[in-house]
Amino acid sequence: MFRTHTKWDSILAFTAMHALAVVALFHFTWKGFWAFMVIQWLTGGLGICLCYHRLLTHRSFTLWKPLEYLLAIFGCLAYQNGPIKWVAIHRLHHARSDQPNDPHSPTKGFWWAHMGWLFRFNEELDLYDRYKKYAPDLAKDPVYRFMNATHGVYQLFLGIALYLWGGWPAVLWGVFFRLVFVWHCTWFVNSAAHIWGYRTWAVEDQSTNNWWVAFLTYGEGWHNNHHAFLRSARHGLASWEWDPTWWTIQGLAAVGLADKIQLPIPELQERYARKQAPPGRTIPLPTIEDSFIDQAAVPKTGI
Ligand SMILES: [Zn+2]
Ligand SMILES: [Zn+2]
Repeated sequence: MFRTHTKWDSILAFTAMHALAVVALFHFTWKGFWAFMVIQWLTGGLGICLCYHRLLTHRSFTLWKPLEYLLAIFGCLAYQNGPIKWVAIHRLHHARSDQPNDPHSPTKGFWWAHMGWLFRFNEELDLYDRYKKYAPDLAKDPVYRFMNATHGVYQLFLGIALYLWGGWPAVLWGVFFRLVFVWHCTWFVNSAAHIWGYRTWAVEDQSTNNWWVAFLTYGEGWHNNHHAFLRSARHGLASWEWDPTWWTIQGLAAVGLADKIQLPIPELQERYARKQAPPGRTIPLPTIEDSFIDQAAVPKTGI
C-alpha cells in the first residue's frame, strides 16, 4: 500500500486561487475579459484538450514538433501539472477506469473525482520516479523533462506580461479567474462525464457522453466514445456531437502541420455498439500501452 497524507499546502493554494477568482468579478475590464477568453482557449482548448490529452497521452495524431512543444507550454500554463505527470495519471485512469485504484473515479464520490483526489498525496502519482514509467515516451525527451520540472514558472512570465499590458484586472482575469475556470472544466470530465450522460459503447467503466461537458471542454465531454476508442483523434462521433478539438486537428492537417490521424474504423463502431454486442460482452479496459502505441484506437476484445 502506498503512503498517503492530506496535501494541506495544495488545499491552501487552491482556496486562495478560488478567492482571487472571486475578486476578479469585482474588477471587470474589457482587457481582462479578452485576456480570459483568449488564454482559456490557448491553455484549456489547445494546451490541455488538443496537446496534453489527444496528442501526448494518446498519440492520436502527430504534429510538427516545434508546434507540439509550443502547445505543451500552453498546457503547462493551465497549471494542471507538467506534461509527463499529467499524461501518466491520465493513462492510469484509462487502464483502471472506475476500479478501486483509478486515480479519480466518482465511485468514491463526485467531489473526490472532481478535485478531492488532488489533495491526497499518493506516491505512485506524485513521485517522478514512480509515475514516469507510465509515460516512457515523454520521459526520454529532455525537452519534456525540463517542462515537467519547470511547468509552474511560465505562469509568472504570463502574469508579468498581463500586468504590463492591462494592469491588475488583466492579471486577475487572465491568470486567476481563467485558471479556476479551466480547472473546473477539465475536472468535470473526470466527475460529470463518469456520472451523467448517455452511453453509446459498452465499455467496462462508467464513462458517459455529456453534452454540456463537451461544450465546456472543446469536445472532451464525449467521454464514453473516448473510453471506447481511446486513440481516436475524433471524440464526437455522432453528427450532433460537437467537437471543436477535432475540427482544429483537421485544420492543422489541412495546412500540413498534423499527420497520422487515428480514427475508429466505421465497421468497428457498428460492431461494438451496445445494441449489437452479444449480451454480457463489453469493451475491456485498455493497458497503459494501448493508450499510445500502434493501432490501439481499436479496442482489444474477444468479440
Ligand atoms: Zn474517464
Ligand atoms: Zn484519454
